[in-house]
Amino acid sequence: MPKANPRHPKFPIPGGPELRARGWRQEALLRLLENVLSVGEDPGNLIVYAALGKAARSWAAHNGIVKALTEMEEDQTLLIQSGKPIGLVKTHAKAPLVIMANCNIVGQWAKAEVFYELQRKGLICWGGLTAGAWQYIGSQGVIQGTYEIFMRIAERRFGGDLAGRFVLTAGLGGMGGAQPLAGRMAGAAILCVDIDPERARKRQQIGYLQEIAPDLDTALEMIDAAVKDKRALSVGLVGNAAEVYPEIARRGIVPDIVTDQTSAHDLVYGYVPKGMSLDQVRELREDGQGQLMAASRASIVDHVTAMLDFQKRGSEVFDNGNLIRTQAKEGGVSNAFDIPIFTEAYLRPLFARAIGPFRWMALSGEESDIARIDDLLLEMFPDNKIITNWIRLAREHVPFEGLPARIAWLGHGERTMLARRVNALVVTGEMKGPVAFSRDHLDAGAMAHPNIMTERMKDGSDAIADWPLIDAMMLCSSMADLVVVHSGGGGYAGYMTSCGVTVIADGTEAADERLDHALTNDTALGVMRYADAGYEEALDEVMKKDVPYIRLG
Ligand code: NAD
Repeated sequence: MPKANPRHPKFPIPGGPELRARGWRQEALLRLLENVLSVGEDPGNLIVYAALGKAARSWAAHNGIVKALTEMEEDQTLLIQSGKPIGLVKTHAKAPLVIMANCNIVGQWAKAEVFYELQRKGLICWGGLTAGAWQYIGSQGVIQGTYEIFMRIAERRFGGDLAGRFVLTAGLGGMGGAQPLAGRMAGAAILCVDIDPERARKRQQIGYLQEIAPDLDTALEMIDAAVKDKRALSVGLVGNAAEVYPEIARRGIVPDIVTDQTSAHDLVYGYVPKGMSLDQVRELREDGQGQLMAASRASIVDHVTAMLDFQKRGSEVFDNGNLIRTQAKEGGVSNAFDIPIFTEAYLRPLFARAIGPFRWMALSGEESDIARIDDLLLEMFPDNKIITNWIRLAREHVPFEGLPARIAWLGHGERTMLARRVNALVVTGEMKGPVAFSRDHLDAGAMAHPNIMTERMKDGSDAIADWPLIDAMMLCSSMADLVVVHSGGGGYAGYMTSCGVTVIADGTEAADERLDHALTNDTALGVMRYADAGYEEALDEVMKKDVPYIRLG
């Protein structure tokens, strides 16, 4: 039985033992599509997160996908082009059930303006990373990444934790909403600015944000008191970051850590310029895109200038993956890239070993399935501090949204081992239902994004998109259930290409084979990508784990 969804009553949370499709694999993908809408930001408009990241191109396309997933046999493959089903072809039972290509525009045309025009004509939609691929799990999807960043900074600069430290950030949307909880889990007093009171309320309602301050003075007093008591606290503030950051700087306050996760990548549908109400912005989105782009960029210039000011005065400042530096540079802030990107600054040694944001969703809808997998992880990897620390924290602090799910940063071999053990538990009935395994597209072999994931690669291969394409083709040959290639839409047009994958552990022998091939090959490619770029960690992983990398010379 689906469960009621208080946040979006028209989008119940899937679950239960009954199948509407002709097999669990098809049913699983149907539930994942339903799930991304149930946890999405604006499901009535099919929007899941990141301003414009959609689950399907239109409601007609959505309904066509649902019909195909419900009626298709196991030896067929559903083809999806930018969120619209275009065919159901005969393949074989080991082929993917769904393959997708979303928002891939030929190089010279891949610009925000061209994307908006194609979108207006109904010819394209952006899938975000995990929205169009039905892999989004709500704010939990990036929470461990954000937490690990905070902990890396804590280790480097603050003696191991963030107790008594002030973190300033902005953006309480789908992904940015993970920040207050990640900050609190790291022990910090974290202030999160968002222009939209509704977003702040949502994050408070689902347990990611503790307090909402009525004004800046009160917010700073609350933070100050928590810093003095070394008490973890998350405070939301409704305001425009392009005004609030410069005002905090003007008062001479220097936060310990400063970042931002507004949808700065999209000057039309994401970022809200200062001095404009949300209603004004919504109107301009329809018929004043040029004006809105100029106003957003001007505000981002002020926003990033304040971030650079904090950096000069000693704050640890980083770009949290929203293209804010790129937008500022185009607006004339020549030194915007003095701010480092989080991947290169903190997480690259993990990605070089293909350790990245792996995740799983309990298709039964039962939280006990996730609890059982949490136990399993602790049993299987007792010496892996990243995993054991994370699982203990996540259990205590991370509330479930939609289908119960868990994210954990696992690497080559580890993901496969876990998934196959879970598949065995589905067979014995210890799981209440099948489990879907997936990962973020921001993963070692899966993404080319020269201003985010692959910035300043050791060998200069930042902009080469062969890796995600090889990943996708390899995953189709490795029996994955769903494989997707995404490129950027809106402000990300021309900036990225990524690959996504989902494999269903339905307790069958075939699933065991699928999980083994797809998950092992996916992380093997991740190690190869970094080994090929000359990263020592990756070369070490090749030796330790016998990764079949061909090293020339
Ligand atoms: P979202 O569109 O759901 O939320 C963006 C939020 O920013 C909204 O709540 C909006 O009200 C707020 N906002 C916009 N302009 C503002 C301003 N000037 N001042 C204050 N608040 C403002 O987007 P999301 O899913 O939270 O993603 C945010 C950004 O992070 C996107 O650019 C996305 O691509 C990026 N992202 C990064 C990672 C990563 O791995 N680091 C992962 C996912 C998303």
